[in-house]
Amino acid sequence: MADAHRIRIDGTVQGVGFRPFVYRLARRHGIAGWVRNDEEGVCIHAQGASAALDAFLRDVRTDAPPAASIASVRTEATSLQPHETFAIRHSTDAGPATVRITPDLPVCNDCRRELFTPSDRRHRYPYINCTNCGPRYSIVRSLPYDRPRTTMADWPMCDACAAEYQDPLDRRFHAQPVACPDCGPTYVYRTDGTDQERGEAAIRQTARALREGQIVAIKGIGGYHLACDARNADAVQRLRERKVRAEKPFAVMTADHDTARGLVDLSDDAAALLTDPARPIVLAPSRAELPGVAPNLRDLGVMLPYTPMHLLLFDVGAPDVLVMTSANRSSEPIAYRDADALERLSGLADAFLVGERAIARRVDDSVARADPFGPVVLRRSRGYAPQAVATLPTERPVLALGADLKNTVTLVVNGQAFVSHHIGDLDTMAARTAFETTVEDVLAVYDLAPQDVTVAHDAHPEFATTRHALALNTSRQPVQHHRAHVASVLAEREAWTRRVVGVAFDGTGYGDDGTIWGGEVFVGSVAEGFKRVGHLRPSVLPGGDAAIRWPVQAAAGFLADLDPPADLTGPPFSLPDRFEQAQQLIDADVRLFPTTSAGRLFDAAAALLGFTGRVAYEGQAAIELEHQARGHPRVDPYPFPALDHRPLLTALLDDRAAGRSTSACARAFHEGVVQGLVDVLQRLGTEHAVDTVALSGGVFQNQLLLRGVHDRLADTDWTVWTNHHVPPGDGGISLGQAALAARRSDRP
Ligand code: ZN
Ligand code: ZN
Ligand code: FE
Repeated sequence: MADAHRIRIDGTVQGVGFRPFVYRLARRHGIAGWVRNDEEGVCIHAQGASAALDAFLRDVRTDAPPAASIASVRTEATSLQPHETFAIRHSTDAGPATVRITPDLPVCNDCRRELFTPSDRRHRYPYINCTNCGPRYSIVRSLPYDRPRTTMADWPMCDACAAEYQDPLDRRFHAQPVACPDCGPTYVYRTDGTDQERGEAAIRQTARALREGQIVAIKGIGGYHLACDARNADAVQRLRERKVRAEKPFAVMTADHDTARGLVDLSDDAAALLTDPARPIVLAPSRAELPGVAPNLRDLGVMLPYTPMHLLLFDVGAPDVLVMTSANRSSEPIAYRDADALERLSGLADAFLVGERAIARRVDDSVARADPFGPVVLRRSRGYAPQAVATLPTERPVLALGADLKNTVTLVVNGQAFVSHHIGDLDTMAARTAFETTVEDVLAVYDLAPQDVTVAHDAHPEFATTRHALALNTSRQPVQHHRAHVASVLAEREAWTRRVVGVAFDGTGYGDDGTIWGGEVFVGSVAEGFKRVGHLRPSVLPGGDAAIRWPVQAAAGFLADLDPPADLTGPPFSLPDRFEQAQQLIDADVRLFPTTSAGRLFDAAAALLGFTGRVAYEGQAAIELEHQARGHPRVDPYPFPALDHRPLLTALLDDRAAGRSTSACARAFHEGVVQGLVDVLQRLGTEHAVDTVALSGGVFQNQLLLRGVHDRLADTDWTVWTNHHVPPGDGGISLGQAALAARRSDRP
């Protein structure tokens, strides 16, 4: 007696070898029927003896391919069809496309083996891939995910590749980017405006140029990198000069795991993160000296090779540690189109390793860190995007446009929240274009018009994202920046009604009263909204934005209401004129911007402990302050009662004047912020009967601060929640906006 089932599976099930897996499973269990991809995921018609069907269904759930991630399996009885065997059917493309696109995957072990097997027909082929590995998101032009809709459409398969592509038992069955040296793209080495070498010779030439200290623009999965020998201080210095990137740390790629271990201290969790399928840049404490790579920092960002080209590059003798930084001038988006790269990077790179496979969308490297309380994604991009990070309780699609710094956008379709790749700071024309393209792209992929969605955006009236929201001309939901930060933590956990104390310690964001917020404490939930119940004692930023670039200027603002005023005229304080000029602004009461920004408080402390210059990248002063503090064991905290910064800074000034070391002062400052915050939490917890705290905002990238709060609350009843899947910084804002807007648009 045979039964028939219709099985629908959704999740990350396309482009990960799911259909061939189902096919092999069906064969094994003697099941007849078919499997196909459709807009919602994978659909299976399975018929056979009921025991066999049960076993088949069980194995579908438990033995899925490594890159697949099943969100749900729905089964219903259906009528028997005249099938004798099991078949893989072609995709349908009717109806709305709501299926998830798979992130780009690193080269797998099977492909790596073939890559280095002389008898294999893809021996040393830089674009080798299979059903379990290779590019996905970066080559998809539209859905469903099939070769004609990818950037591989321009490369017709040869007979041998076509045979593998069509054979359900082959490990390249329906691997969309499948190719070989006979039919596929390759790499080209280019200097002085002409192509010099192709294929392996091009990669050898690149390795040689890198050994000689040159800077080469290398095309990867989601864009170009600028690469140089990380152990060659002159080359690193030259790269900094050309990129106009004075001090921002560079990430490195190492030839292998052992080389990485020689450079950084890897905990087990960090080592696991390094080989995660996303192959992120992993930040870990450095143990080797690489002059100029990450100046003044105790951490280094390390990643492993993730494309076959990278493996070949190291195999043919590239230096074993390469600086690999996004190919752009500072703050512009990463270059990903060949013509654009060749033009924009001509003064930056000595040579180009151009890959012939086109990139459909730019995807930067992701950045992650293994914290004692779990991994934290600090930049969510290649390998993670565009996976759904949460299921939101809304029927109506929501498009959240994020913030103007570290921009990402989130689209919610059928309740699934898809967070885009990292787009970056929208302060250049190129970046704003990239943002607009991404918005069009995510809507197009899911077949949505702006009128179909509710648009969520930051409450800041001057943000480019806000102007774009207005231009989209559909229903809108402004969301206050710091509430979005707190909501991002809860959205990750799908905790809609959980009441929490939400802490957003951040750089700057537009507050309800039009002032610059950034040290905010809320009570509430995503469902009921967040009421502001506390904040850093207000101060002023003399000169506005300039005070963000110059920590001494922020310091002048924070010190303005010390009574008696601090005397900073003598050593050890050697503050530049800019400090006094800022004081004059305060005295004259001109260009003063009220603020509660915790980020600026950290900047002020950094300025008083010697960071008297201009910040070269966002958060630099605060990051260097943290790294100074990490160099000193725990000390007694400075007082920070009810988030009043006056006693905190007074204690720091006194200590510093008395000659205490800057690292001890930096440490006591951190301990003070932790203790002050924990005291506030304890009070609010009792007052509002809440025992969960959600910590977010860019300042919580600070490990010492985050660990401090965790440690201090470890033996209490408090539950501490932080971001893991989206960044605590502004890269997480779009998810938080989406969550709050989804709840509101859901109400009657
Ligand atoms: Zn593979
Ligand atoms: Zn071929
Ligand atoms: Fe923020």
